Amino acid sequence: MNQEAIDKLRDNAVPVQSHFIDGRWQEAEDGALKDVITPIDGQVLTQIAAGTPADMNSAIASARAAFDDGRWSRTAPAERKRVLLQLADLIENRALEIAVLGVRDNGTEISMAFKAEAMSAASTFRFYAEAIDKKYGQIATTPNDVLGLVHQVPIGVVGAIVPWNFPLMIGSWKLAPALAAGNSVVLKPPESASLSLLKIAELASEAGLPDGVLNVVTGAGSIVGEALALSMDVDVLVFTGSGATGRRLLQYSAQSNLKRCYLELGGKSPNVIFADAPDLADAAKVSAAGIFRNSGQVCVAGSRLLVQEDIHDDFVAEISRHANRYRVGDPLDLNSQIGAVHSRDELNANLEFVEAALSEGAQCHAGGTEILTQSGGFYMAPTVIGGVKVDDSLFQNEVFGPVLAITAFKDEEDAVRLANASDFGLAAGVWTSNLSRAHRMVAQIRAGVVHVNTYGGADLSVPLGGVKQSGNGHDKSLHAMDKFFDLKTAWIKL
Ligand code: NAD
Repeated sequence: MNQEAIDKLRDNAVPVQSHFIDGRWQEAEDGALKDVITPIDGQVLTQIAAGTPADMNSAIASARAAFDDGRWSRTAPAERKRVLLQLADLIENRALEIAVLGVRDNGTEISMAFKAEAMSAASTFRFYAEAIDKKYGQIATTPNDVLGLVHQVPIGVVGAIVPWNFPLMIGSWKLAPALAAGNSVVLKPPESASLSLLKIAELASEAGLPDGVLNVVTGAGSIVGEALALSMDVDVLVFTGSGATGRRLLQYSAQSNLKRCYLELGGKSPNVIFADAPDLADAAKVSAAGIFRNSGQVCVAGSRLLVQEDIHDDFVAEISRHANRYRVGDPLDLNSQIGAVHSRDELNANLEFVEAALSEGAQCHAGGTEILTQSGGFYMAPTVIGGVKVDDSLFQNEVFGPVLAITAFKDEEDAVRLANASDFGLAAGVWTSNLSRAHRMVAQIRAGVVHVNTYGGADLSVPLGGVKQSGNGHDKSLHAMDKFFDLKTAWIKL
């Protein structure tokens, strides 16, 4: 990746986008379109189909027909592997083009989007393609005159709903295992970041995925997302997004066919710095990246920094220095370390959180404002807010922006109390040289992942999921496949 190559792609015209249903591009039934605004400069980038419930139902019918006639669900795992490996290659070959398109849509800095979106999507399809022909069923421990077989069979039609922050990475975490397992999928991308996922549907078709197996319907969550979640013909719903939407999906499931819902929700992750951290300078640098990259629009962002009293003031000064040093700017410029906030609404919401924190008595050590307003886009200075108390709105609510809340703690017991004083339980960090303390903290912090002496690292081999109100499912790793299989048994009298 180099700047020249990015610049060649950055102004490419983006045609008006339709739904991808039954292997074809299809307009919304009433022809309605919705503007796509790029956060880079606030201009209209293109338009997407503003789907209706009828569009969604047509996609679900197509997925159901494809599943029932076995054109994909009954192919040999080795054949599914072949097609998905081909898809991975197509994505990788066009990774920069896809990444640039995605950045124009959602504003993530290109250095991150290239790896975390396009290249990661290719790796994810490869991972599950490679896994699927290595999965065996079981023979049960029945008496000798009976043969008990335990098959893992695809469930049927999977509905997938994903957010705008890493639509391609998260979308692939759903699509790849669902398709590898033999299901058909209807995907509802985020209305404000649909473009890269539409491209994946096109490439999947080119790779040989049969028509109807992957359908993408764009439009508002409250219209097409709701229709997907209320459908009597969708067997499983996999979701990443906010807790508010997750709650609605559980209600829709209860109102319809009791479809299983796997929810990956928000976080307010504590990052705990003990005075005996092995390298406090490194802890400050990595913790700053752990909240500020992608403008804090990362579900596992370490947004609550808990700092031991003895080192509190120096550490706050150091992390504030990092915040002030970040180069925020055009996300397609390789010199920008942080790109744009996703939308005007998100930016305004971030600023309101800062204002509320200050009115509750907290102090602003860095940032706190909108910047680069002359660009027409949406940019916010990395923001450090100190003196945040446990009942403050900034301690309890997910901002989903570049805003760090800092609270001092006394000792280990106090750190555990504060770390767990949240309805969320997605991620956490602990910095200490004391091995026993590290283990105690990992055991006591209620979170899906606890990082020790680092923050935010992960790869496909580890599952990602939350506890408490951060969700109930897991993406990534072989565990993620379980959502997409039913267990079916045969009891055979010999
Ligand atoms: P959101 O809940 O507003 O939207 C997510 C998706 O749900 C979008 O596609 C949207 O169109 C759809 N949707 C909205 N209303 C719906 C409805 N009534 N019925 C069906 N679908 C509906 O979330 P967002 O703002 O796009 O994403 C940010 C949130 O996602 C944050 O809370 C973040 O922490 C969370 N997130 C979690 C993870 C994780 O792995 N746990 C990863 C990334 C983001």
